[in-house]
Amino acid sequence: MRMVVLGATGSVGQSAYSVFEQHADRVAVDGLVARQDAERLWEMGIRMGARWIALTDADAARRLSQKVAGKPGPEILGGWSETLDAVRGADATHVLAAMSGFAGLAPTMAALERGMTVMLANKETLVAAGDLVTRTADRAGARIIPVDSEHSAIFQCLGSGEPFRRIILTCSGGPFRGRTRNELQHVTVEEALKHPNWSMGPKITIDSATLMNKGLEVIEAHHLFRVSYDVIDVVVHPQSVIHSMVEFVDGATMAQCGFPDMRVPVQVAMSWPERWPLDVPAFLWPGQQLEFAEPDLDTFRLLALARQAGEQGGLYPTVLNAANEVAVQAFLERRISFLDIAQTVEDTLADYAGVGTMASLDDVLEADRWGRQRVAARIGTSAKGPK
Ligand code: MG
Repeated sequence: MRMVVLGATGSVGQSAYSVFEQHADRVAVDGLVARQDAERLWEMGIRMGARWIALTDADAARRLSQKVAGKPGPEILGGWSETLDAVRGADATHVLAAMSGFAGLAPTMAALERGMTVMLANKETLVAAGDLVTRTADRAGARIIPVDSEHSAIFQCLGSGEPFRRIILTCSGGPFRGRTRNELQHVTVEEALKHPNWSMGPKITIDSATLMNKGLEVIEAHHLFRVSYDVIDVVVHPQSVIHSMVEFVDGATMAQCGFPDMRVPVQVAMSWPERWPLDVPAFLWPGQQLEFAEPDLDTFRLLALARQAGEQGGLYPTVLNAANEVAVQAFLERRISFLDIAQTVEDTLADYAGVGTMASLDDVLEADRWGRQRVAARIGTSAKGPK
């Protein structure tokens, strides 16, 4: 396989780098994309033998070009339009979509339009524009393979596509599992950034603390596996050993388990339908206690709100995602409290009267812009998502 990595310097991109180092004979790299971490991207480009690297921050690309002028290495591209052109023109079979947030939508769409297999780690893409993304994939005959650990688990359990009656997404419960709303009033950014089981970027880590991450994953599962919301359940499982389950029509239930290590779902997407070796240690089962519980939807309202927005359909999930991205960024900047994140998203959705259908990318961009501006006006922050 020959790939492009979107979000190469982020957490999932680094897992892909680690997989590449173990399988350089099976994986070739055409291009790498990052926002602004120029030196690391240049280093990775050389180590992975990339033909080109692209920084969506054009200034970062310019500075890097000056710095490495005359040195052998990949071609350096800068800015969004050059990046999108590079993805469209890539000599690649696969694209790993691992950018954070709504920003990942345009390059992912570009890859799907070209019929490339998209290994999808960027759940916001499917939340904000699920109908459009799946339509585009179908039209181009492009395949989407999930990288999100829960959806990778379901993908692996489904195997040859036997009929099932329920998808059960597991949820660690995040760092604040078991706390009451009252106890969450004054939690700090540092506390929210401490995830018990997974090491991830800041946006998804905050989403895991609010359980919005699981809400986004419910919407993601709806689009990926083309099922109605009433067959998607969420169960809290604090140990994150079972990554998710599928209950087939005869009641037989398959679970995919193992150490919580993002290299596994990344490599599964890269190797599918094969399996390659990986240096993840064997899981030691004796002595393990695995627990399961209902999620607390009163304390972690975003999980319920996300499901509701998904069921409403149209552009509600787009607005949900936009409001959440801006609210999470405002929390990270200490402009709003932890509980304000859910309140902001709830108020924004309540104000939304667009209802409209998702006919084109313009509809998605418009609803996204509306959501961002609404939140920015409400809390006086910039309408950008987390970096
Ligand atoms: Mg996940």
